[in-house]
Amino acid sequence: MSSLSFSLLNKDTHQDSQFSIKFQVQERQFDANCAIVKPLKCNPVLSENKSSIRGVVGELLQKSNPHKPLISLGVGDASSYPCFRKGREFASETIAAVGASAEFDCYAPSYGYPAARRAVAEYLSIGVTNPSIIIRETDVFMTSGGNQAIQVSIAVLVRQHGRSNLLLPRPGFAPYEAACELYGVEPRYYDLVPQRGWEVDLAQVRYLADSETVGLVIITPNNPCGAVYSIAHQFQIAETARELGLPVLADEVYGHMVFGNNKFVPMISYAHVAPIITIGTLSKRWMVPGWRLGWLAFTDPNGSLRKVRAATEALMNVTAGPASIVQAAVPRILSDSHKEFHRNTIQLLESSADMLYQRISQIETLNCPSKPQGSMFMMVEINTKALSGIRDDMEFATKLIKEESILILPGSVLGLKNWVRLFFGVPIESLHDACDRIEAFCKRHQLKSME
Ligand SMILES: *Cc1c(COP(=O)(O)O)cnc(C)c1O
Repeated sequence: MSSLSFSLLNKDTHQDSQFSIKFQVQERQFDANCAIVKPLKCNPVLSENKSSIRGVVGELLQKSNPHKPLISLGVGDASSYPCFRKGREFASETIAAVGASAEFDCYAPSYGYPAARRAVAEYLSIGVTNPSIIIRETDVFMTSGGNQAIQVSIAVLVRQHGRSNLLLPRPGFAPYEAACELYGVEPRYYDLVPQRGWEVDLAQVRYLADSETVGLVIITPNNPCGAVYSIAHQFQIAETARELGLPVLADEVYGHMVFGNNKFVPMISYAHVAPIITIGTLSKRWMVPGWRLGWLAFTDPNGSLRKVRAATEALMNVTAGPASIVQAAVPRILSDSHKEFHRNTIQLLESSADMLYQRISQIETLNCPSKPQGSMFMMVEINTKALSGIRDDMEFATKLIKEESILILPGSVLGLKNWVRLFFGVPIESLHDACDRIEAFCKRHQLKSME
């Protein structure tokens, strides 16, 4: 090890007008006694090993039955299946957009490239029912996936560390809770009501909100329930937010992924009632989750989020957004030249959802209150009283993967005990196979007295 000593003042003569700079470089033995051996502390919020989707899924995967091929209905990623890639040309479009130019070698603008922001603004306007709602390029911030959009929006909404709270759906999407904890915001859960198509319990929202509440999170089309809220319900949500003086954080990462007669209406249609912060991503509808491209957009015709928007600009100026190369392709990817790809996706998802709902409904020990209307997920309740040796959702998931190599997500990870989430963005043949095995598993464990 070298030691370097450095003095700016001639101590012998005390003549500070005359600086002498001395460098001494000596070779010295590394002194082991100086090494730091005690464990250093970290952010306490991150030191507990909390159950995350990835953590639970990782543990379950290690238990799969080596004699049966694994079918995963556990994580929401359809991108690996060729049937879901039909007609997708995003990679070649990206190459074409970047070309040989060095433009995208440089740092991207903090809020994203203007062309990408403009493309998102135009995309967000599709299906807006109120013609007076306008969303501009400057309302949009490009982020590293939907997850960074969640992190940023929560970070900027905190008014006071440790005192603010945010209203979140239960069952919900775990990264919201994680971001709340990280930024010192208390997550407060309102229920989605299974008997009412997983609608928001607005009475409970009113009950939970207080003067320290900073926002109301809504996910539609919904992960994990597959619900798509009606126009009437969306209006009620906006009205409730207005009453409570809250912005709506509208997670629309499954926007336009709706089946049958269901219609996707962007929440910004009600921005004249309550200000809306929309969260979006390329991960789900375009099925490129590894590209890490998402966005955050303000629709705030009355300007009540002026300070929150300024805080977003400040935060984006000190954090890095998504890679320049992916942003380059955004205008092409979001253009309407991919209708066929989207149609194919919806068709596949819709037939999977229909089939899954029918098959699961026939299993005596399981209960599925409503058929998914969109997204890629369905919630199923387990009748643990009718099953022997299965006390809860965790045990159900563990035994199911041990015996049948079927991976599902235990609902307790999402805040709903004794429910499980099934992902149906898998090829229909695999889904049939998975249903056969879930059915066999449930039959095998069904209490004899219940048969
Ligand atoms: C997947 C997902 C996100 C985050 O998207 P990424 O781009 O993968 O970070 C946000 N919200 C919901 C409801 C999601 O399902």
